[in-house]
Amino acid sequence: MTTTEFEAVIGLETHVQLNTKSKMFSWSGAGYQKAPPNTLVDPVSMALPGTLPVVNKRAVESAIEIGLALNCDIAEVTKFDRKQYTYPDLMKGYQISQFDEPICTEGWLELPTEVPCRVGINRVHMEEDVARLIHIDSPTGGVMHSLLDINRAGVPLMEIVTEPDMRNTEQVEAYITSLQAIIRYLGVGTANMEEGSFRCDANVSVRPIGSSELGEKVEVKNMNRVRAVCEAIEYEIKRQVAAIKRGEKIVQETRGWMDGEKVTIAQRSKEDAHDYRYFPEPDIPPIQIERKWVSEIKSEMPELPLAKKQRFIDRWGLSNYDASLIVDDRSSAEYFETVMKSVTDESKSAQADFAKETANWLNGEMARMMHEHDVGSIKETRIKPSSLAVLVRKFQKREINNNSAKRVFGEMFDNGADPDEVIQRLGLAAVGDADELTPIIEEVLANNEDAVADYRSGKTTAIRFLMGQVMKATRGRADAQAVMRLLGEAMDQ
Ligand code: ADP
Ligand code: MG
Repeated sequence: MTTTEFEAVIGLETHVQLNTKSKMFSWSGAGYQKAPPNTLVDPVSMALPGTLPVVNKRAVESAIEIGLALNCDIAEVTKFDRKQYTYPDLMKGYQISQFDEPICTEGWLELPTEVPCRVGINRVHMEEDVARLIHIDSPTGGVMHSLLDINRAGVPLMEIVTEPDMRNTEQVEAYITSLQAIIRYLGVGTANMEEGSFRCDANVSVRPIGSSELGEKVEVKNMNRVRAVCEAIEYEIKRQVAAIKRGEKIVQETRGWMDGEKVTIAQRSKEDAHDYRYFPEPDIPPIQIERKWVSEIKSEMPELPLAKKQRFIDRWGLSNYDASLIVDDRSSAEYFETVMKSVTDESKSAQADFAKETANWLNGEMARMMHEHDVGSIKETRIKPSSLAVLVRKFQKREINNNSAKRVFGEMFDNGADPDEVIQRLGLAAVGDADELTPIIEEVLANNEDAVADYRSGKTTAIRFLMGQVMKATRGRADAQAVMRLLGEAMDQ
């Protein structure tokens, strides 16, 4: 008997809130995250009769930017449509969205996975967010009443729909993090899953390996971390394969991820799926997207993460790993290149060495300190790129040792100190040359004959004890590699 092997087929639908100043179709502020309830309100977002929507140009521009970054075709003409459904958080009783003429179509995103993979982008369109319901629990159980906060109603929401091109959660994770990085690079949104400004629904089906037909899909909602998206998909794949092996049929339905229980549960079947009765929004005429506008937008776009990563590898000789970490955040990448300005006159290999060391400091101490002190962006740190360049150079030339360099870095981080000044004030210049170290080493050897004898009789670990003694004598400033070499030389004679 042969057992059928299955493969998963995954497509994602992602909603991204844009950080425009005003809402999608009206003038009140879109920054609802920090505003007190019901303070970002206007007649349009309250859906008062007789009001008319006005399209936010910056939001359309942001969608075009994302579309270009995702290699999409940008429509010559785009239009908005009404999507009808009723829910207490939907002010008008319909949502203005886009149905058959979205702003962007047919693109793709290259994923930086082990095996490179290209995910097709079906469409990018604009719509509006809904208001927010806050349910107040009754002391006796159940919901006592619900409060409505209109601030979020009408906040620009971009929807990005992929083709069903992903096959595993490694690709899903890479897709999400790549898309987040692009959104942040372009500065069109914060793409933060926890705060709800980036929401992912996963469409999952399975099919026998080798089959080219698509299986019946299930849509999974309600994940608010990348991990949860992956866990929900893994669960769904297992559930569907097990059901098929039991001889059951997968039915098209919407399921919700229960993060506590780590399961998906059925929410809505195809039979009770909404009929949205889309029709063209009569209050917004179709929009012509001038080619001139598109090329202007294109010319002003920053270098995107993947291109930047490749350039860092080619230009600065960084490893794929170091480059990935650095380009993850646009300001870190810019900071890195500012540090690198100090070595542009040097040889290619000297530049690569310096780049590697700089990357170590940025991905190591800098990342650690920023995390420890809750600093969100490298732009907020007090270390000037030119000061980091000085420290890295001194460390590289062994003018200060590892411990001292970390101490200097700490002072630079805390108060923006100048590295030369700290090194001088604390007397941290490394004792590295043989002239200075030899007498100290001789004295240590003379005072520790037992350890020397141990070493000579084959207990080579005794050298570590002697190293400690030299470090003590130099108050920790000795260059460890030099000490090791000189100790060995002295005792191996
Ligand atoms: P619907 O009409 O149900 O919204 P769409 O064709 O618009 O379905 O696709 C919605 C999302 O589901 C897209 O991201 C698409 O890639 C994905 N998708 C479609 N069919 C499948 C399938 N059989 N398995 C997995 N994902 C799918
Ligand atoms: Mg759809």
